Amino acid sequence: MICSKAHAPSWNILNHPNKQLDVIPVLNRKLLRWYQRQGRDLPWRSTSDPYHILVSEIMLQQTQVERVKTKFPHWLQRYPTMHSLARSTPGAVLRAWQGMGYNRRALQLHACAVQLVERFQGDIPRDYSTLRSLPGIGPYTSNAILCFAFNIRVVVIDVNVTRVLSRIFHRQHTESDRLGAQQVAELGRACLPRRAYRNWTHALMDLGALVCTARSPRCRECPVRNECASCSILKPLPKTVASEPRTVPRRIHRGRIVELLRLRHRASFSDLGKHLKRDFTRADHEWLADILESLFRDNMIAVTNGRRVLSLPDSLSEIVTLDFTLPD
Ligand code: SF4
Repeated sequence: MICSKAHAPSWNILNHPNKQLDVIPVLNRKLLRWYQRQGRDLPWRSTSDPYHILVSEIMLQQTQVERVKTKFPHWLQRYPTMHSLARSTPGAVLRAWQGMGYNRRALQLHACAVQLVERFQGDIPRDYSTLRSLPGIGPYTSNAILCFAFNIRVVVIDVNVTRVLSRIFHRQHTESDRLGAQQVAELGRACLPRRAYRNWTHALMDLGALVCTARSPRCRECPVRNECASCSILKPLPKTVASEPRTVPRRIHRGRIVELLRLRHRASFSDLGKHLKRDFTRADHEWLADILESLFRDNMIAVTNGRRVLSLPDSLSEIVTLDFTLPD
């Protein structure tokens, strides 16, 4: 037996808060001590520059931490300030985003910088609803900016925080027993320390990434095992069986088109067709046109007037005036 369940709470914090809140001070002390010793050293944690925090949070939305760690300093070299990013073109921003995937985020970051310069002289606003009105900024990113850039005491809940809080406070046997978003948010508010809330948030994120992982939590090494209701009872997730080869998803084709245009700057309709399908024929024209139109609608490509040559969008005027038409 590795966990003492004497103080481990069963789930009822929302119904009977007084009975459960007593575990929180010990839990928080252990989390913060563990974070000081074993938390991850990530470049965006040693700054509170709002622009740096904005860039890192947009990058982290759908890209793994290790890849962001590599790209982040290069990005800041290329675009050291909000104004330098706003002055750039969508095409140049897409090229600088290479290797990060989900290219739409690069354009949203650029559009966000343009708006921030136009509306706030390049400053980032400190209130939730204004942040939410900006391109690419959802509830999580707004709270992360408020907390990490402006040191405002708000709960920041990502997938790791959700998993860890749910497991600690709710006796989970499987992943499907997990608490809902609303319950986790209430838990977060109940636990959030008065002062060290930034480190506390980072501690939960790191515990979820390094110890309390989605697939195989390492309860024996966990600093809060004595406070955790799910310690050593979680059944590991079954290994995913390699699925049958299936149709390549559309977002992969979109990514490949943008990647080719990063390398070659310009390509014709049939170049792109052959790049995606070795046996590209006229029968595939409609399929490719459909993908290109979706990229065009998302402002990720431009079509050179009348010549049916495609490129990354290199100026805002190109994006709004050009039109994509199916070639003859
Ligand atoms: S690693 Fe185990 S003990 Fe630690 S929080 Fe996760 S489930 Fe609980």
